Amino acid sequence: MAKIDESNPLKHTIAHAKEYGFIFPSSEIYDGLSATYDYGQNGVQLKNNIKEYWWKAMVQMNENIVGIDAAIFMHPTTWKASGHVDAFNDPLIDNKDSKKRYRADTLIEEAIAKIESKIEKEAEKAFKRFGDSFDREQFLTTNQRVVDYKKKIDATNARLKKATEEKDFADVKALIEELEIACPVSGSRNWTDVRQFNLMFSTELGASAEGANTIYLRPETAQGIFVNFLNVQKSGRMKLPFGIAQIGKAFRNEIIARQFIFRMREFEQMEMQFFVKPGEELEWYEQWKQTRLKWHKNLGIAEENYRFHDHLNLAHYANAACDIEFNFPIGFKELEGIHSRTDFDLKSHEEHSGKKLHYFDSDDNESYVPYVIETSIGLDRMFLAVLSSSYTDETLEDGSERTVLKIPYALAPIKVGVLPLINKDGLPEKAREIMDKLKFDFQAQYEAKDSIGKRYRRHDAIGTPYCITVDHQTLEDDTVTLRNRDTMLQERISIPELKRQIEDRVSINNLLRQL
Ligand code: ATP
Repeated sequence: MAKIDESNPLKHTIAHAKEYGFIFPSSEIYDGLSATYDYGQNGVQLKNNIKEYWWKAMVQMNENIVGIDAAIFMHPTTWKASGHVDAFNDPLIDNKDSKKRYRADTLIEEAIAKIESKIEKEAEKAFKRFGDSFDREQFLTTNQRVVDYKKKIDATNARLKKATEEKDFADVKALIEELEIACPVSGSRNWTDVRQFNLMFSTELGASAEGANTIYLRPETAQGIFVNFLNVQKSGRMKLPFGIAQIGKAFRNEIIARQFIFRMREFEQMEMQFFVKPGEELEWYEQWKQTRLKWHKNLGIAEENYRFHDHLNLAHYANAACDIEFNFPIGFKELEGIHSRTDFDLKSHEEHSGKKLHYFDSDDNESYVPYVIETSIGLDRMFLAVLSSSYTDETLEDGSERTVLKIPYALAPIKVGVLPLINKDGLPEKAREIMDKLKFDFQAQYEAKDSIGKRYRRHDAIGTPYCITVDHQTLEDDTVTLRNRDTMLQERISIPELKRQIEDRVSINNLLRQL
């Protein structure tokens, strides 16, 4: 694996993403726009493949889940009803010396994570001391230092929760001071007061009088689903439990936006709202937790990269919530949220719109507002998870080096490279013939320029699972070599066999069958 540069753990990924056409800074010729990125020719393919894997796993594989595509602009009252106008705020704090701005709650959470890692270090030390007879559980509950650390974590969590709920920002600041949190840039503890900052972008609709028609760029896709709940239920004759899925852009004026595509101001979400009978929500919540984790692990990315993080500080709408966290180069962070949102949203839309959003349950002959389980994953974060975990630097047996993106085959931007060994002797024409057949089934790429070794390296660097090489033998017996990205082994295959052989290995259906 590539060595991680402590000062910027994402450096390799960012440089590689740019060099190989995955991600460019937005409007780069004008020096870019912070926390906004464009996907390049390979990036868009990878992104589309992730979408396809999610969409098919949700909509195509489940008879009781359907999809929609709602508008980004919504009636402004939507955001009053959802709570975003009043409560979609982050507490921010500035360091007076570095002039850097931070989310106050994130600073505290990072301080808690540091204490957690101290516990882990104590456990590792003890394990070294006691060896196989080490009882981790017992150690964690009885070692005085660990017990004290845990007490501190619990007390800090409880205080942060209370202060956030009660909007007691003086206490949030007091916590930062008591935890002796210093600015990572200036190293000083010279902080401003904590202030509230609404994350929604607003704009004006039409040529209306100033301020009269403020609308928002949606900060999440979920509300487009809630307001369409009855439209979909009635037109699709859906019976509970059923889900509505959506992939689309969301916008947040994030305070901290220094982590590449992990935290963007314009990003994409893949969300699914699953409507259930009240009282059954926690069972469904558990089930969706497992279903979603399985979807992730099914990609074959090392299992230890995933973990659940249960929320202690529940959002105003939730009665249970957790994140699936991924081990990004910047540490374990939220990749997907799974929330039991109760009937908060539908009820609130009923109140604000004056329209009934009840479901008539013909089995029980009663009418009620359904409860909702939501699974919400950031497409860009998923992209970052795939890209960063697949980046590998290898030293080969002959001492040479290669960079290879070990992207799960089904997600790879280009599935197959078609390469004439040399650019003459009738080999390019034969390779073109193969390309023209395969392009109906796969995203294929024809490449004749440079030595074959260089072309293999280029395909390794963008994660192409297979390269077909057309050589002189091809002209004699209609066979080609098929080279695998990971093993670099080449097998000889007859041209009519190619489609089946490649399809068997790179198809998204393989992933779906294993779910
Ligand atoms: P965070 O705590 O990291 O700000 P969140 O809890 O606000 O995230 P949700 O509102 O639960 O996030 O959004 C669902 C998903 O959308 C997240 O799990 C994440 O993958 C993605 N997401 C949220 N904000 C951003 C962002 N600014 N850039 C990229 N993806 C995002």
